[in-house]
Amino acid sequence: MKIAILSRNKKLYSTRRLVETAVERGHEVRVVDALRCYMNITSLKPSIHYRGDVLEGFDAVIPRIGASITFYGTAVLRQFEMMNVFPLNESVAVTRSRDKLRSAQLLARKGVGMPVTGFAHNPDDIQDLLKQVGGSPVVIKLLEGTQGIGVVLAETQKAAESVIQAFMGLKANIMVQEFIKEAGGSDLRCFVVGDKVVAAMQRQGPEGEFRSNLHRGGSASLARLTPQERATAVRAAKIMGLEVCGVDLLRSNHGPVVMEVNSSPGLEGIESASGKDVAAIIFEYLEKRVTELAKRTSRSNTRGKG
Ligand code: ADP
Repeated sequence: MKIAILSRNKKLYSTRRLVETAVERGHEVRVVDALRCYMNITSLKPSIHYRGDVLEGFDAVIPRIGASITFYGTAVLRQFEMMNVFPLNESVAVTRSRDKLRSAQLLARKGVGMPVTGFAHNPDDIQDLLKQVGGSPVVIKLLEGTQGIGVVLAETQKAAESVIQAFMGLKANIMVQEFIKEAGGSDLRCFVVGDKVVAAMQRQGPEGEFRSNLHRGGSASLARLTPQERATAVRAAKIMGLEVCGVDLLRSNHGPVVMEVNSSPGLEGIESASGKDVAAIIFEYLEKRVTELAKRTSRSNTRGKG
């Protein structure tokens, strides 16, 4: 197959692993920086231009779109889709998962367990907002934050009020969440491919830290998931419409709760914690999907001619 990997940097661990695995499996692969693509949008022959070349003849595209370039990155991905290139994750699903409120609303509507969450733009009654999520302690999150930055634990009502006021003063969109204390500063990253969790790790924050992000000094180890945790992760991925993703869960007293679904999950932490060749698992899946699709298309073409 001829595969494009949408990634800004060839040297990133995940991109490198995908490239080397593609080559090992006999594919032709090209890393494409979405921000350097330019496109013409026509209904007859949509195309993508890149460094003076026309990108043509691709069978599949693997999006690894960073949060900061979601808007343009998903537009490029959509252009590949218009050219009938199979996307490992569809552009609509990537966009959907990047919107934390939209994701939370979708998951809640389908009955997936989540921490009790409130959101507000500029509430006149902060106390009422806090009451809605059960009062302090609460976790306050900036919607635009990643890697644990902008995630604050407010242990008292007063602390919560002043943090919310401060964020409001900066005109930031926030989410206020029930604090899942019993998670003990750890979370689960479930790596979903298709309809299976293919690897899972438990991340644990350092002593005294409630955030388990590896970027914040957390450590990762192999996780053993319960059937309910597996089912929750797969369900969350399905609802978001993502074929490959990382679903982050917290172990709460009322069962697994979903914190986030990540459409470009990193490979480094999960491969070393689980000892699995996740890149190879992704390609096995991609090859199967592209073959299935090709068969279906050729069948419908034959029918069309009959
Ligand atoms: P980011 O997307 O910036 O990583 P998260 O929402 O994943 O932010 O939060 C960072 C970390 O903080 C999580 O990995 C988890 O360990 C902890 N955390 C987040 N929300 C809660 C919560 N409601 N209760 C307990 N811990 C939480």
